[in-house]
Amino acid sequence: MVEVSLLRKQFSTEQETVKALRGISFSVPEGQLVTLLGPSGCGKTTTLRCVAGLERPDSGMIRIGERVVYSSESKQFDPPEWRPVGMVFQSYAIWPHMTVFDNVAYPLRGRGVGKTRIVQEVHRVLSLVGLAELADRPSPQLSGGQQQRVAVARALVANPSVLLLDEPLSNLDAKLRQHMRLEIRELQKRSGITAIYVTHDQEEAMAVSDQILFMVDGEIVEGGPPQEIYRKPQKKLTAEFFGEANFVRGRIKAQEGDRVVVETPLGTLSCAGQNKSVGQEAYVFFRPEDAEVVREPPCRRASLPGHVARVTFLGKTVECLLELENGVTLKASVHPKFRPRQAETVHLVVNPDACSVVTD
Ligand code: ATP
Repeated sequence: MVEVSLLRKQFSTEQETVKALRGISFSVPEGQLVTLLGPSGCGKTTTLRCVAGLERPDSGMIRIGERVVYSSESKQFDPPEWRPVGMVFQSYAIWPHMTVFDNVAYPLRGRGVGKTRIVQEVHRVLSLVGLAELADRPSPQLSGGQQQRVAVARALVANPSVLLLDEPLSNLDAKLRQHMRLEIRELQKRSGITAIYVTHDQEEAMAVSDQILFMVDGEIVEGGPPQEIYRKPQKKLTAEFFGEANFVRGRIKAQEGDRVVVETPLGTLSCAGQNKSVGQEAYVFFRPEDAEVVREPPCRRASLPGHVARVTFLGKTVECLLELENGVTLKASVHPKFRPRQAETVHLVVNPDACSVVTD
């Protein structure tokens, strides 16, 4: 388990002072993979480096397992080599003049571990990442994916309690990235290791994580399991970052349990949402794939008439931009078999359970 509390870090250069972390708090339960996701410069790498001990925070607390490795209050700062963490860097940082075996053995040699134990441990982690056969191969003769696995094996060889991965797939091409993210996830589950993963790619974050923490400008905007943060975000910013989104502006009329009643140009809608204040401006949000487009108005469900303003073929789906009769424009993904035509009249059906209320 990792616990980070009220962590602050700023960098001062001659020109400016950057508040990289503005007092962030989160915890990573034992055996889970938590991803820090956010746009470039939001503080993801700084957080990871603070946990690894490569950066000294200005204030806050970091605990790994039972041990407090950093505390501004008690002036505690464990150097990186004392912390039970293994790190995989964006660049892999593999030594080109060494074999696979020597690269993976490197952290153990630095700690004075005996030869027999080194052989055992290196073979254990190479088997774990599926590279046992390539132990003697010189590192430059490895593919990108194999180099990435060497970096993971090296991070795991000293049996750390926590694995830290900083954009570990960004040097691979798109197809290999998709494959390797599944491999990393499988490996993390198999080994049961607690992990913190950094990426700016929301799809990658959803594929690998138990929990995602969405960061912007040195703060955690919100966090949750992938499905929840994708389908029921609390903030408009989060909804936008995770993919195509529809927003209908409105004003909150009532909070009724975990549902919110919102007055919008489409009428009064009741959607999922919590802790919203009556009178507050808000948006009813839903994903384009949760909007159904039909040619005849359904008799048992409410629908909104409009016309198709734009059609974009995306392969598996077709995205339609719909202009409703009351002037609101919304996006809907439909199956290519539906063959929407530009300017045709259609009806939009949105399941209220797929909607939620988000705020700025
Ligand atoms: P990316 O996805 O681009 O790697 P990030 O979310 O990991 O970005 P950080 O690398 O943590 O962001 O940087 C957070 C902020 O702190 C940025 O504005 C960055 O320019 C600044 N920063 C980071 N390290 C330093 C440093 N050593 N000196 C000055 N500013 C720094």
